[in-house]
Amino acid sequence: MSKKARADKEICVACGVCVRACPRSAISVFKGCYATVDDESCVGCRLCEKSCPAGAVRVEVQANEK
Ligand code: SF4
Ligand code: SF4
Repeated sequence: MSKKARADKEICVACGVCVRACPRSAISVFKGCYATVDDESCVGCRLCEKSCPAGAVRVEVQANEK
């Protein structure tokens, strides 16, 4: 099981705070609309979750399907 960040695009206000907080550069703001996470880069450290002023990011346990 691994932990990956997920941003709720309905809540995200595209402020970019999580992008700057991520030590792995795993989050980007897609077309200026909402945050998306690159699972290959995300290490589940929760820094994005802690930094998001909107509470849009959650780090969730993922099943290792691949
Ligand atoms: S959990 Fe850590 S590595 Fe993953 S996107 Fe958030 S800040 Fe980046
Ligand atoms: S910090 Fe939160 S509201 Fe801002 S871009 Fe990231 S997920 Fe969206």
